[in-house]
Amino acid sequence: MSSTDLSGRVVAVTGASSGIGEATALAAAAAGASVSLAARRLDRIQGIAERINADGGRAVAIETDVADEASANAFVTNTREVLGGLDVLVNNAGVMLLGAVTGANTDEWRQMINVNCLGLLYCCHAALPVMGEGGGGHIINVASVAGRRASLGSAVYNMTKYGVVGFSEGLRQEALHAGVRVTVVEPGWVETELLDHNTNEFVQQSAAKLKEKVGKVLESVDIANAIVYIAGQPDHVNISEVMVVPTRQS
Ligand code: NDP
Repeated sequence: MSSTDLSGRVVAVTGASSGIGEATALAAAAAGASVSLAARRLDRIQGIAERINADGGRAVAIETDVADEASANAFVTNTREVLGGLDVLVNNAGVMLLGAVTGANTDEWRQMINVNCLGLLYCCHAALPVMGEGGGGHIINVASVAGRRASLGSAVYNMTKYGVVGFSEGLRQEALHAGVRVTVVEPGWVETELLDHNTNEFVQQSAAKLKEKVGKVLESVDIANAIVYIAGQPDHVNISEVMVVPTRQS
């Protein structure tokens, strides 16, 4: 648990229905922030929001498909209306559909590009004017080690995450004039549902072998704690890039 104080801040988290996003919403709420949770699975985010509210926090669940521009816009607008502002946007929603480029199902490419890249762009686009009006803010983009190192079978996912890393630094340089900080977080292997969406047996087998080698991988809360720490820095400090990996991941 982090000792960072986020009280009085509004934190919006995409992909908050499971894994890193869920843990981030809970950690931000535990640090005192009001939290808005976005994802397509409304029942899940409602359950998490109810937990936060029952524990004395303040949270709202907003059904959102970030790949749909109107839906991403509505997430930001509703967050501001319901919680009274927007201080921190955590762009965490993502999909990782691995496999060879040759013979790939190109629907999977579109899904990754639409969620990991366009979804993140839509949320930033909607959030920047709101943060500007509020005198500043903080955008935290969840990329991956896959945005720094490419690997076999991951080419298109690599492309989306390299994109997030490059975009984040470009946006940081643009947004600093409005007092908006930008951070890119690059997790290594975290135990979540992310891999489960891969139907390719080869991918599952390779992952199982790799996991044997790495041993204990990260838990979602490890990344959530890093995000809360980053968000809790004083206004003049922008931690622009952080890579967090399991100790034994090469
Ligand atoms: P999960 O699969 O547990 O979480 C993914 C989240 O993204 C879910 O809440 C899902 O919600 C949401 N999501 C997917 N598509 C959409 C959409 N169209 N609109 C809104 N939300 C969407 O995986 P993780 O927690 O691991 O992933 C979170 C982020 O971390 C991703 O960006 C991933 O690339 C990144 N990452 C993960 C690593 C890992 O090892 N786990 C390593 C490096 C980076 P729903 O389906 O309800 O919409």
